[in-house]
Amino acid sequence: MRLQAAVLRSYEDPFTIEEVTLRTEPAAGEILVEIAGCGMCRTDLAVRRSAGRSPLPAVLGHEGAGVVVASGDDSDGAIGVGDHVVLSFDSCGHCRACLGAAPAYCDSFASLNLFGGRKEDAPRLTDATGEALAPRWFGQSSFAEYALVPARNAVRVDPALPIELLGPLGCGFLTGAGAVLNTFGIGPGDTLAIFGAGAVGLAAVMAATAAGALTVAVDRHPQRLTLAERFGAIPLPAATATLPEQIRRLTEGGVQYALDTTASPPLINDALRALRPTGSLGLVARLHTALPLEPGTVDRGRSIRHICEGDALPGLLIPRLTGLWQAGRFPFDQLIRTYPLADVNEAERDCEAGRVVKPVLLPQRGSR
Ligand SMILES: [Zn+2]
Ligand SMILES: [Zn+2]
Repeated sequence: MRLQAAVLRSYEDPFTIEEVTLRTEPAAGEILVEIAGCGMCRTDLAVRRSAGRSPLPAVLGHEGAGVVVASGDDSDGAIGVGDHVVLSFDSCGHCRACLGAAPAYCDSFASLNLFGGRKEDAPRLTDATGEALAPRWFGQSSFAEYALVPARNAVRVDPALPIELLGPLGCGFLTGAGAVLNTFGIGPGDTLAIFGAGAVGLAAVMAATAAGALTVAVDRHPQRLTLAERFGAIPLPAATATLPEQIRRLTEGGVQYALDTTASPPLINDALRALRPTGSLGLVARLHTALPLEPGTVDRGRSIRHICEGDALPGLLIPRLTGLWQAGRFPFDQLIRTYPLADVNEAERDCEAGRVVKPVLLPQRGSR
């Protein structure tokens, strides 16, 4: 079938809206999804800085959500035509991590999601000249009107929910909320400091507030701090020399948990200084520089670990988050601004400039 998609052809140039061809007979275990909305995540934009590792030309987009319009013959029936689904990251399903219910640490995570995809007999996506596009991104390539995806990455949701807004629950919001609810297992009375109040950090703030924690949010943008405060956190500006002391004072000696979304070594050291003894720091952003740790930061039982995709089983966490949203306790929709697919470049500019927390592209609206 022919459809409109946003194609990235070079690391420097804008996306182009093109008519592409998608092989549309779902193979065993695949579904074809009409994409109602797809969030734009930092990882999409980081392709531009991948130094040639991410194959181009490509259709990016890995926070898709929509309606199933076809499914492969031997589908096990868990997901069927007409179902509303949120699409999440890809995983192999049979390595030790997958068998251990930790699919974000799948042995094949990088190849399946970032650098190659599953083995394809013939390319799924081709451009108007017949040239093959890169294998699907995160098992999806959802900056398009339709995506052909492994059914195991799709999570069925209540059709009464606003499906076009739910895609970011498959990655960005999943990452922040999962770190709080899964990795840290935060509950009433716990203390948490969140460094960076973007899409991931603000989802973490909302989840921590919903869980009854005392939360401090740190950012350098005043408007982001205003949002963090609205969602229940105590706001603190990033660039102050006394930041760790301020956090320790607010939390009676330090926070039990800290979450860094910035990958900034000075802020990571501040986060460690804000931890109480035995406290844990989680890192969700990829480090691009060495991380020198200052003396006295990793001691007295304090620990650091990396967290991928919020340690989530998407099939469990996404329904939990939609349930919290329906109860008015996880208002993620307030972080979203929607754009027609044709405005993908404007969405990227707004995201990079910090004018919008979470752009969501709507391929079914106004893209023709
Ligand atoms: Zn695996
Ligand atoms: Zn993402």
